[in-house]
Amino acid sequence: MGEKIVVGAGLAGLTAAINLRRLGYEVRVLERRDGIGGPARDMPTGELTYVMADGTPLDLKRIEDYTGIDISPACEPLEGTRIYSFGKRFDTRFPPNVPAYLVERGSRSASLDMHLYRIAVEEGVRFEFNHPLRTRRDFEALPPRSILATGLFRDAFQALGIPFVPVYGFFGQGMLPEEYRGPKVILYMDRYTWDYAFFSTIHGVAGALLFQRKRPLTAEAKRWFPERLARDEGLELPEWHELDVGVLPMGSFSNPRLFHERFILAGTLAGAQDPVLLFGVHGALVTGRIAATAVDDPEAGYREFRKVNRFWRLSYLNRRLIEATFPLGLKVISRAGFGLYPLYAPFALRYAFLIVPGWLRI
Ligand SMILES: Cc1cc2nc3c(=O)[nH]c(=O)nc-3n(C[C@H](O)[C@H](O)[C@H](O)COP(=O)(O)OP(=O)(O)OC[C@H]3O[C@@H](n4cnc5c(N)ncnc54)[C@H](O)[C@@H]3O)c2cc1C
Repeated sequence: MGEKIVVGAGLAGLTAAINLRRLGYEVRVLERRDGIGGPARDMPTGELTYVMADGTPLDLKRIEDYTGIDISPACEPLEGTRIYSFGKRFDTRFPPNVPAYLVERGSRSASLDMHLYRIAVEEGVRFEFNHPLRTRRDFEALPPRSILATGLFRDAFQALGIPFVPVYGFFGQGMLPEEYRGPKVILYMDRYTWDYAFFSTIHGVAGALLFQRKRPLTAEAKRWFPERLARDEGLELPEWHELDVGVLPMGSFSNPRLFHERFILAGTLAGAQDPVLLFGVHGALVTGRIAATAVDDPEAGYREFRKVNRFWRLSYLNRRLIEATFPLGLKVISRAGFGLYPLYAPFALRYAFLIVPGWLRI
């Protein structure tokens, strides 16, 4: 069998590459950077590499059955999250029927990206690092049915004309203080951003990101978040930086797409991310597998893709409503949602996560 090209060595690209190898193809992955690192690589912050912990609902058994990949060694159970909604604190726990995990992203050995990379190398996938595709001509030089999985980086969206919105960020990072005993994930929803700010920690590193799609963060917002983290949680991160987070596939109702021109898309570029909270790990793994299937059987791939993204438009509509009514809409929805959480979570949270591409549908 011939060679297949995958562009992007993140979650979706690596999952696709492993599955293509198992279908019998030679596989070459082209990656713009000098190594593995997913979305979290371009920002050396002092002595630390930019590390993020992504939280996500994940049924490990279903994911393994679907992708053929056991990711459990790279997953840490996540019991709950703390949420501050417009100043009011809520501590939530995931009910037993909603398994949730934290995964490290980035280039350290314990990250999910590195876990998938090691499996890909064992399977015989070949990698070409320092190989960015930037222009339309770069992409046109690829063979038909190449898989593009370039995440939230702008180049492929721009070169191929896929609608997107930019994301502006303010990022802090440091080692976690030894005495810290608080939750692993803290979310802030407030009038300073119509997205959210969050703190997460994994394997001794603490990261915090305030971000907003479409419009830049104000100076007031950038003062507010570090101050709140210090005051509410005693967390003082030594370094804060402006961060170009990248772009999101949320420019239009038609965004999720498995096929674009001669290419097969996966992960964020395919729109496999929930439009409200931006859960994307699940969708990247699932669509990585679907993209590999679509190389041989485009119709079967397309059917699967539609199934896993069934609730995307509804979720995108919700998102647009939040923007149109911000900040009042966000305040009412988040206060009610987290205030009533103990009542509905045990039976309804499992289904609320249907907004996550592929959740309960694989
Ligand atoms: C602010 C924010 C917070 C998030 N938090 C969460 C969370 O808590 N939980 C969750 O589930 N999801 C979260 N996500 C989403 C999640 O990070 C992504 O959906 C997921 O990483 C998508 O995987 P991917 O394979 O599509 O892209 P990535 O894992 O980003 O991989 C893309 C790869 O392609 C390479 N690449 C990019 N462009 C090119 C090019 N032109 N040429 C060659 N190589 C290229 C990159 O270097 C990278 O290695 C968050 C996203 C954002 C923006």
